[in-house]
Amino acid sequence: MGDVVVVGAGPVGLTAALAVRALGRPVTVVEAGAMDRIRPGSRAIFLHRATLQILERIQPGLGHELSSHGLGWSTKRTLYRGREVFRRTYPPPSPNALPAATSLPQIVTERVLHAACIDAGVEFIWNSEVTKATASPTGVRIESGAGVIADARYVIAADGARSAVRESAGLHLEGPRTSNAFVIVDTAEDPAEPLPLERVFHYEHPAVGFRNVLFVPFAGHWRVDLQCNADDDPDAFSGVDGVRQWLPKVMPAKYAERVTWVSTYVFRQAIANSFVDATRRILLTGEAAHVFAPFGARGLNSGVADAFVAVKAIDAALDVDPSAAEQLINQFAQSRRAAAERNRAASSTALTHLVASAPSTRLIRRAAAALAPVMPSAGRWLDAAPYGPPLGAPDSDGMQY
Ligand SMILES: Cc1cc2nc3c(=O)[nH]c(=O)nc-3n(C[C@H](O)[C@H](O)[C@H](O)COP(=O)(O)OP(=O)(O)OC[C@H]3O[C@@H](n4cnc5c(N)ncnc54)[C@H](O)[C@@H]3O)c2cc1C
Repeated sequence: MGDVVVVGAGPVGLTAALAVRALGRPVTVVEAGAMDRIRPGSRAIFLHRATLQILERIQPGLGHELSSHGLGWSTKRTLYRGREVFRRTYPPPSPNALPAATSLPQIVTERVLHAACIDAGVEFIWNSEVTKATASPTGVRIESGAGVIADARYVIAADGARSAVRESAGLHLEGPRTSNAFVIVDTAEDPAEPLPLERVFHYEHPAVGFRNVLFVPFAGHWRVDLQCNADDDPDAFSGVDGVRQWLPKVMPAKYAERVTWVSTYVFRQAIANSFVDATRRILLTGEAAHVFAPFGARGLNSGVADAFVAVKAIDAALDVDPSAAEQLINQFAQSRRAAAERNRAASSTALTHLVASAPSTRLIRRAAAALAPVMPSAGRWLDAAPYGPPLGAPDSDGMQY
């Protein structure tokens, strides 16, 4: 029986596997997809410095390598009904320090983590969809439709929002779903004539029926998020034809011909009822444990923290008696669930502000926009609110997400 099996080769599973190898233990990753699969869309494009620092602790150089593939935007701007209410430009980061954040497609993050795993000696079992995880007080057996895949003393479930491991362990996600849909578009930058590297948020953009629009640059592309109204049919704004209707009204028309991904989301704000099963052998991490709306970028960033803390707990638990081991695993479950509660509260604050279903929220936003030219704090508030509260101080595990 191996010490640790990780289910899922997404960014969180790959991080967990690397962390296990960094502690000198063998590890196997079991993944439903093929090694050469191409996952669609940019998805998690924002890696915070806190995450790059964790990756540096796991493997020195890894945070820097990821940031070398990403880009940093140093200017942020916010507009209200077409009028700028906030602008800030940060000084360039010091050449050898980790940047405040880096923006790159999730698939590139996964590629870099996968290459690091191969170098570190992580074993992979591809094309193997786990359908069942049976835990006992001494370990876990994982199976696919074809039979037993592996036995391990601990299993880290990193198999995403629909986690079969979580469901098999009798755990489930709990939490609400938003009613507003968001249309998310990736469009390729024109290297011959690039737009300035600025993150720009428009409250109630006049060119698209006063809907909110967010622009975020990431390596080679722009992410454009359009917030549909509650009574919109999101299909009318989605797909190649739908996007052609509105994108040229908010960006130079050529970007409508450079679209590489369009997706429509109704976000769920859900957390697993427990991050560990009854036997304390299956630990949930990443989207297997929680799903958040992406405003504030708390999904992948907090998943990396889950993976790091889970591996530390397992590493310690492997060397102690069963009751001390249970305690260590419980500590992981409690501290990461508490972190998920904080992250959900933060992304809910952002979402409530964006959706503004209460007329008072719209009124306050309008008042802040009117005051912004004479009261800079009103502009600052309008700029920050779509991403939720800032990161707090590190928790007892040293994690900010
Ligand atoms: C539009 C959008 C934008 C986002 N933007 C951000 C952002 O800017 N910043 C941020 O931090 N986060 C963001 N997120 C969230 C981020 O994408 C997720 O948090 C991240 O993908 C979760 O990683 P994961 O490894 O937990 O799960 P996943 O990436 O879903 O990986 C799960 C892996 O498990 C595999 N798997 C699934 N089931 C099984 C099974 N039964 N057996 C074996 N393998 C299995 C899958 O094939 C996959 O490889 C965004 C999400 C979306 C949808």
